[in-house]
Amino acid sequence: MNLPADNPPSPARILIVEDESRLARLLADYLEAAGYATHCLEDGREVAGWVKARKPDLVVLDLMLPGRDGLEICKEIRTFSLVPILMATARAEEIDRLLGLELGADDYLCKPYSPREVVARVKAILRRARPDSVMAEVAGPLQLDPDAFKVMAGDRSIELTAVEFQLFATLFQSPGRIFSRARLMDNIYADQRIVSDRTIDSHIKKLRRKLADILPGLELIHSVYGAGYRYEPVPREPGGPE
Ligand code: CA
Repeated sequence: MNLPADNPPSPARILIVEDESRLARLLADYLEAAGYATHCLEDGREVAGWVKARKPDLVVLDLMLPGRDGLEICKEIRTFSLVPILMATARAEEIDRLLGLELGADDYLCKPYSPREVVARVKAILRRARPDSVMAEVAGPLQLDPDAFKVMAGDRSIELTAVEFQLFATLFQSPGRIFSRARLMDNIYADQRIVSDRTIDSHIKKLRRKLADILPGLELIHSVYGAGYRYEPVPREPGGPE
């Protein structure tokens, strides 16, 4: 039996932690228009307790807050909850440092951001967070052959260059995790030679084109604006073959 269309599941609840109240209100309006329920907090000291008591589905967390900063809050939340955290910072250059600290945030936003961008990120994170969805397929249907620099999907395969393979293997082994360009370069160029960010971008471009040969129409390597790249496994069809 189909559920009536006017009886949707209860909306996901988003906690917005932002001390610029106009921005918080704007964000809440956009998220509510997209069908989410929201709650706003301004003081960093209230956040961890609220999350523990109310168990939101996602937290948009500003880095600079009165009372307590987003870094400490994120770390504390991770001691008791895996709720997705989308961290916002006004300093793009701060993101590399945050990634290095491995706080457990799920994504990062650069301020000023457009509320539409936030809604898109929230949707993407919640889709990933659903256990029956993308993240269930941790390894994906892909197999890697490190001796031949080959990637296989079923009976199709592609050969990569050594650099492309190293790049892909790094992303593939940590699905969902964002790698900055600097981190990817460190992994690939052990001799520390100076390469520009554009080098990584151009390898990623070639890699995407090759992957499209064996898995057409699927976006496996995602660009994260202002942050870097991440791999997302191929979604498994509900009820499809293992
Ligand atoms: Ca702030």
